[in-house]
Amino acid sequence: MKYRYLGNSGLKVSEITYGNWVTHASQVDDSAAIATVHAALDAGITTFDTADTYANTAAEVVLGKALAGQRRESLEIFTKVYWPIGPKGANDVGLSRKHIFEGIDGSLKRLGVDYVDLYQAHRFDYETPLEETFLAFADIVRQGKALYIGVSEWTADQLVAGAELARELKVPFISNQPQYSMLWRVIEEKVVPTSEELGLSQIVWSPIAQGVLSGKYLPGQPLPEGSRATDEKSGAAFIQRFMTDEVLTAVQRLQPIAEDLGLAMPQLAIAWVLQNPNVAAALVGASRPEQIASNVAASGIVLDGDVMSAIDEALGDVVVRDPKLTDEVSPRTRP
Ligand code: NDP
Repeated sequence: MKYRYLGNSGLKVSEITYGNWVTHASQVDDSAAIATVHAALDAGITTFDTADTYANTAAEVVLGKALAGQRRESLEIFTKVYWPIGPKGANDVGLSRKHIFEGIDGSLKRLGVDYVDLYQAHRFDYETPLEETFLAFADIVRQGKALYIGVSEWTADQLVAGAELARELKVPFISNQPQYSMLWRVIEEKVVPTSEELGLSQIVWSPIAQGVLSGKYLPGQPLPEGSRATDEKSGAAFIQRFMTDEVLTAVQRLQPIAEDLGLAMPQLAIAWVLQNPNVAAALVGASRPEQIASNVAASGIVLDGDVMSAIDEALGDVVVRDPKLTDEVSPRTRP
């Protein structure tokens, strides 16, 4: 496993990082979840990502259980705050001082740790003054409950505004967590260049496009049993964006490229996001231990220019690049 620095900081993260959205406490039972975390540890993954909102707080509990007994100094544990949790009352949401203070305490308790390495604003909160949010982040950092601060799916302008406050308040603001894959490249035009200027890294989610870039979904064929696309509880709704014949047909054109390189399709997808130097980590999911064991082989793979061009040619115009789509991710009013 190779490591990369997270933003302009001294913190190193495993360039393949495991996250438990829609899987733990939802699609898979606890024993499969714990076995998958242990497979990740065995494969050299040290960085784990979750959020208070995943399975309405239950995913943090499962991750805490799975990591119990591990040496804390050998792990980097990330969580997030913003989306409604618990009974979803008026203050159980957003980036107010109240919810950030209560949110971090709840997350630490559920994870069974004294601090998280990275605490992330899961979205931009249009209803809270940014100064209030960053002062609350500054305070929890001073209290030692979070070592570093990150955000998720912020626009370039929001990153600039956040970085200015972070500088004033001396908050170690080091990362953004956006969606990024061969199919979804909306961060390339604005978010990435701005982040480079600000000293922020990307921790990119759904690098395998939720399993679509594994090539296992075939156009016009029945869905593979047990896959995310069949998970009516939550995963199936999220993967829909990619489940069109056009996208699935284009993805099949990547098969010969992966084969020529001796790579499995998920490995090619993960290696692709890691070619971008502003990406500190490919944040992968897995519903079973074998997936993670195989996927980590993507660490350290270099794809040359010809391969990158062949990928672009194979995918053609199913690739989404419009930078304005980042603007649409954070709700204008709190959910
Ligand atoms: P991926 O693109 O890595 O998709 C993971 C899924 O793909 C697995 O659960 C599995 O689904 C399938 N898969 C993985 N490996 C293989 C394989 N070798 N062969 C076949 N299928 C495979 O990422 P996720 O969409 O899971 O997101 C990863 C993490 O990113 C989340 O856990 C979370 O931490 C973070 N995230 C953050 C968001 C944010 O707003 N900040 C939003 C979404 C995610 P299956 O077996 O069920 O088909």
